[in-house]
Amino acid sequence: MSQTKPPFPALGEKMRVIKISPRGYCYGVVDAVQLARVAAKDPNTPKPVYILGQIVHNRHAVDSLNQYGILSLDGNDRLALLDQVAAGTVVFTAHGVSPLVKLHARARGLHIIDATCPEVTHTHELVKKLVAQGYEIIYIGRRGHPEPEGVIGEAPEHVHLVENINDVYNLPLATDKIAVSTQTTLSKWDTENITEAIREKYPYALIHNDICSATTDRQEAAVAQSRDADLVLVVGDTKSNNSNRLVQVVEELAKKRAHLIDNVTELQPGWFAGVRVVALTSGSSTPSQITREVADFLGTLIVGREVVVPTRSLVAAG
Ligand code: SF4
Repeated sequence: MSQTKPPFPALGEKMRVIKISPRGYCYGVVDAVQLARVAAKDPNTPKPVYILGQIVHNRHAVDSLNQYGILSLDGNDRLALLDQVAAGTVVFTAHGVSPLVKLHARARGLHIIDATCPEVTHTHELVKKLVAQGYEIIYIGRRGHPEPEGVIGEAPEHVHLVENINDVYNLPLATDKIAVSTQTTLSKWDTENITEAIREKYPYALIHNDICSATTDRQEAAVAQSRDADLVLVVGDTKSNNSNRLVQVVEELAKKRAHLIDNVTELQPGWFAGVRVVALTSGSSTPSQITREVADFLGTLIVGREVVVPTRSLVAAG
């Protein structure tokens, strides 16, 4: 007996909303947020509690920690941020930090809570091991993002950041011991071209793919499950690398129109013209209540009827 329901609702019927799964917080982010909250509540943890950088790239997640009295220090240079901390506890975010940052935090006598995601720690260990074996590392990542900053800090002379194929062409490496590693939150499709260029230039290079499974699973689900959608919405912060990648893979691979929104108020009525099916996902740094509010609103939409976007969000601060 077939259970198939027509995928495309008619005019005047409820818009179909596909809630892409998995989506939202990954285990690395859940653990980091939890560690910070426990530290804030624990009377034995030296206060104040600072987070070095945004715990995740989502301002709502950061705001909610502020309510626990946790102070987030924003900025790209983790070492410079440490100068603002005179005493208390410092939390390293899931993105990880360089050994120099750890050293300075210890030298300042700060209590340290390391919330580096195990997937990122794995990359640090790998890079350290390979450099000790005499390898030069080509690291595929985004300049200015804290994760590459931490990994490169393991061996600044031997880790070479590339963002695109041109960077690969310009690499001056002249050794037969070359290994490749990647930032955890890139898209595997994004890195494929760059990896291919590295293979062409250095056919003997050892290729490691360190994109984490949480990132890959969310990207693959977004591409596969948006097949029937006329419009795809990604809830996330513009600073969130993995949220931006979700938009990119949906546009490039599923060939669907996709928009990144911070919260429900950023929807635009014009996006829904002619839309019968909308798919929804969110970055691994997006709190679920923000996405839920968007899902609830989409659930009220009728195909062909004017869309009136809420002017304020009940869950998003500011
Ligand atoms: Fe860890 Fe991956 Fe989540 Fe980053 S996206 S915190 S690497 S699980």
